Amino acid sequence: MKYELETIPVWDAVREETECPFCLLEEQSRSRYLDFYLGSSVMNPETRQRVNRSGFCPSHYADLVARRKAHGLGLMTHTYLMERQKELFPLMETLQKKSRAAGSKKVMPLVPGDIKKAQEELISSIEDQETSCLICDDISRSMKRYYYTLAYLWRRDEDFQKALGESKGLCLHHMAGLLPLASEALKPSELARFLDELMNLQKKNLERMEGELHWFTQKFDSQNNDKPWGDSVNAHKRTVQKLTGRLFNLD
Ligand SMILES: [Zn+2]
Ligand SMILES: [Zn+2]
Repeated sequence: MKYELETIPVWDAVREETECPFCLLEEQSRSRYLDFYLGSSVMNPETRQRVNRSGFCPSHYADLVARRKAHGLGLMTHTYLMERQKELFPLMETLQKKSRAAGSKKVMPLVPGDIKKAQEELISSIEDQETSCLICDDISRSMKRYYYTLAYLWRRDEDFQKALGESKGLCLHHMAGLLPLASEALKPSELARFLDELMNLQKKNLERMEGELHWFTQKFDSQNNDKPWGDSVNAHKRTVQKLTGRLFNLD
């Protein structure tokens, strides 16, 4: 599959002094899509239909609320809520009907498992809604383009290879995301060298991280009060980023 290349944002992110350029790119994407769904796109019928079909996951709903665009969010969730009612009300009414029938001794024969089945259908409708999310889908598509672009730039540009090799590497979450796209972007011989260099870069930086975190913990010993922090400032937050792909405010 061919992906649209995103060379400028990927180059910019690799130049940043960060534990993972993809963490920055993912955060930029998240912010861009939150603005998109709360902006003028909310009036676009095609976007409304997409929202009505998929909605957002709890985490991205929380992000949308935090953006404080009350009117846009109100409009979007209003039509979405009406769509949800169309699906939920019949399921809720079926559950009522089945449980009423089971509760009444007059209505026989009772089919065992009827209530359970109606409950399960209602539960899965709710669970499906919580796992389907337009913003998750949009970010995932963007990330695939970024992963592909990194492998492409590594193949085409020696300066990029050097910059990546001198960087702090990637977080584990995004390393896992990169591997399948690197396999698509590179020929087997290129892939072998890419993986060799990437694994060395990752091992070196995970060891660095461990050393920084160790000194971070030692700094809480009163004997070390006057000694400098060195590179260990925020090592706890950067380690969590390295492990999870979540970006934190390092102030
Ligand atoms: Zn990352
Ligand atoms: Zn989401």
